[in-house]
Amino acid sequence: MEVDSNLTLVRPVDEDRPLTSIEESVEVAFQSETDVTAFRDGATEQCVLPVVRTLAMLATPTCDLSGEDYWLFIPLRSVETYPEIKRSTLHSTSKGYGNLFGIYANRGVFEESFVNFHDLVSVPSEPFRHFPESRIANLSKQSQSFLQDKLARFLSRGWGYAPHEKVEISGFYRCRGCMLYYGLPESDVYLNAGDNPPKCKNCSAIKRESSWELLVKHKRSRPMKQIPPAPSVFTRTLRLLGLTRPKSGP
Ligand SMILES: [Zn+2]
Repeated sequence: MEVDSNLTLVRPVDEDRPLTSIEESVEVAFQSETDVTAFRDGATEQCVLPVVRTLAMLATPTCDLSGEDYWLFIPLRSVETYPEIKRSTLHSTSKGYGNLFGIYANRGVFEESFVNFHDLVSVPSEPFRHFPESRIANLSKQSQSFLQDKLARFLSRGWGYAPHEKVEISGFYRCRGCMLYYGLPESDVYLNAGDNPPKCKNCSAIKRESSWELLVKHKRSRPMKQIPPAPSVFTRTLRLLGLTRPKSGP
């Protein structure tokens, strides 16, 4: 049987209707959904799917395992079968793949593998509770926290304006890239709607992208001067040469 991108339906021979149930006693044929009137009036169809049995990584946090009826799994894929995957990128802790997490080989248990966050599936947990021996390996504490960061970044991430993007709201902005570090010169700037944020000097110094996020007023915020950053030397030179003009204020 050919497998294509269409569903393969199980239907009574010579009849254009779904089975009444999987137990209906009738001779059946496998048909592509495009060759019959599938899902007529929203009817339920029985279909066949190719299934593989594979190792998978349990992604539900340990403390939730006892209470949850469904656990999250991500199937392991062998690195060897994906020649387009660069191993150095896969295992990089800085500039790795955004959606892939590399797993080193566990001798005699599994080969070097990776999981793709797009493969996350929710599976009833009951069968797995009775086979604790089906758990064969654990990530190290460091790998767990790397996975945690990576998955969080895959699902949602903080976002700020880059220097080539115009901000939409007037207000104070802070570079997100600087938030990790202490002892840096203040990076807060005031920007008017339509302004481009500057290049963050701190981040440029370590070849990191500037990413400016709008700040809101804290109960204890003190009033600050709303002075947009001075134009760069490059912009000032262009202005001197008459090649560009300052934007007219609001
Ligand atoms: Zn910065």
